[in-house]
Amino acid sequence: MVTNIMPYKRTVNPPLGLATLAALCPPDWEIEIIDENVEPVPLSPDADLVGVCGMGIQFDRQAELLNYYKAAGYFVVAGGSYVSLCPELYETIADTIIAGEAEYIWKEFCRDFEAGHSKPCYKEEGIVDLRDSPTPRFDLLKLKEYMSVSLQFSRGCPYQCEFCDIIVMFGRKPRTKSIQQVELELDLLRENGVQNVFFVDDNLIGNSRSAKQLISFLIEYQTRHDYRFNFGTEASLNLSRDAELLTLFRKANFEWVFIGIESPDENSLKEIKKYQNLKEDILTSVRTIYSHGIQVYGGFIIGFDNDTINTYNQQFQFITQSGIQMAMVGLLTALPKTPLYNRLQEEGRLIDKKETSDNTKLGTNFIPKQMGYEEMVDGYRSLYFQLMDNNNIAQRIINKLKYLKSPVYQGGYSAVEQFRMFLRLTGHGLLGNPRRLYHFIRSVPINKPEMFPVVVHDWIVGISMQDYVRRYFKLEFGLDHRLSESYFKKFEINLHKYLRTGALELSLKSISQNAAHFSVKLKGLVDTKFFIQVTKHLKKILRKTASTVTLNIEECQEAQIENFQKCLKKLSVYGDRITIRVDKRLMKMIAIDSSIFNLELSVEPIRSIETEWEGTIP
Ligand code: SF4
Repeated sequence: MVTNIMPYKRTVNPPLGLATLAALCPPDWEIEIIDENVEPVPLSPDADLVGVCGMGIQFDRQAELLNYYKAAGYFVVAGGSYVSLCPELYETIADTIIAGEAEYIWKEFCRDFEAGHSKPCYKEEGIVDLRDSPTPRFDLLKLKEYMSVSLQFSRGCPYQCEFCDIIVMFGRKPRTKSIQQVELELDLLRENGVQNVFFVDDNLIGNSRSAKQLISFLIEYQTRHDYRFNFGTEASLNLSRDAELLTLFRKANFEWVFIGIESPDENSLKEIKKYQNLKEDILTSVRTIYSHGIQVYGGFIIGFDNDTINTYNQQFQFITQSGIQMAMVGLLTALPKTPLYNRLQEEGRLIDKKETSDNTKLGTNFIPKQMGYEEMVDGYRSLYFQLMDNNNIAQRIINKLKYLKSPVYQGGYSAVEQFRMFLRLTGHGLLGNPRRLYHFIRSVPINKPEMFPVVVHDWIVGISMQDYVRRYFKLEFGLDHRLSESYFKKFEINLHKYLRTGALELSLKSISQNAAHFSVKLKGLVDTKFFIQVTKHLKKILRKTASTVTLNIEECQEAQIENFQKCLKKLSVYGDRITIRVDKRLMKMIAIDSSIFNLELSVEPIRSIETEWEGTIP
């Protein structure tokens, strides 16, 4: 949805860690940064060294890339936050592991690599002084592809939330860069035409004295440069009790702040040691921040030992009353090395679930205390559907606008671009959906035109999340599976000619918890009509069901490659649900954008091209 309304933006933030790492390399090294969120990975890069970075949620892809490049003969290095947390997982798949903050150890690795004797692991055992952190190589990032650009002032957080891996990695004593370093980074971003800057600190106000110094400087900088930047950041809820800090935030042009609220239930907050959220009624805190014109984005978690099935309703009521549109609700996940993980391990409650680090999926890695596992997952799914109802999106906007005073956010872009965005929102999201249009209209405060950009923003957020939830959190699995089965049968009948000659194999191999999975294997001679038929059927299946598809291309005549590419172009809107395997021989002839599709990088030659449904639908 966002890509329909902001077609020139591919994702939210660029990989700041890689830009920092690039700045730590010897000056004569030639460096290219590839972010698979915005561009395909190169299959045969002209490189002496390939580094693959990732967070826990990206572990599978990171491992796949490391294996692929290693098998292709490259020297591969693994880095990123998950390597820092769990270096042992990477021992067999990378030539070298960089675990921990990179400022000192990456330089050491570069020296050793040039001298030809790099070690298998470089682990930062001490503490990095952020004044030694270089200015990131923003010039190596495709900045125009991102909604905002990250900048880091501090690392670490003084609090002790039980589930948090940040304090495990960066410690509880916030460390900061100097004001001069920040100024240099802002100058570069300004020269590169950046408008929206995200202070990606773990908790920007972890040390309130340093935060005040920084923000006072930002006010002065903004005044000097005609209020060039719109800022956003992450901070703890105690921000609401510091009126001076809030006033500074507003003056510096902070439009929004992301806060880990986690739960409106005091007992849950005590259980996880989130004491900073217990000092004041949370709803009052959120509204205090609104009263300074700053929007609140919130993180919420369900699954604490104190939580029961009634917690879902409590969360729903709180989120609605607080008017937080950007409500990131996740199931509690025990991240390795955290106190939560250690406790659950001692209690024998960890379970081997795949979704161990992705708290947006329908699953987690431990047994809840006061709910059944399935009960917890079902409650989570229902909560999201409830939140994403058009009526509730509108209600949150109405509730927020009662307390939001003269918002700092004025659209984030030029007036012309904002008008275009509104037209696209109308065309793609409102017209053709009378119920949504009705709720949109009722959420617009006629007597407060200055709120209109906030309303438009919140509807873009709401519709995008609605789209995500509808695609990934299907409720009617039985119905969805029956639908998939009937489409599959039609698919088989229409492509009978190719199935008979053995040019094609179709199967329904397996059914995940959420949806069915089609597999299509192309292994022989086909004609133009084949691709027209396949495109038509797959589009229908992907549009009408939550199914996933694997396209396995074993064979494809050169004359048909253009047709195959056309087929992919038409399916690209569903790219996140399509996995493509291409035989090694064809890899060079067929261009597949791995930032759109899940391109499987096999280290073994593929034996055949397939689209298969595996198994039988119950
Ligand atoms: S406030 Fe946030 S960053 Fe700090 S310990 Fe808690 S969860 Fe971690």
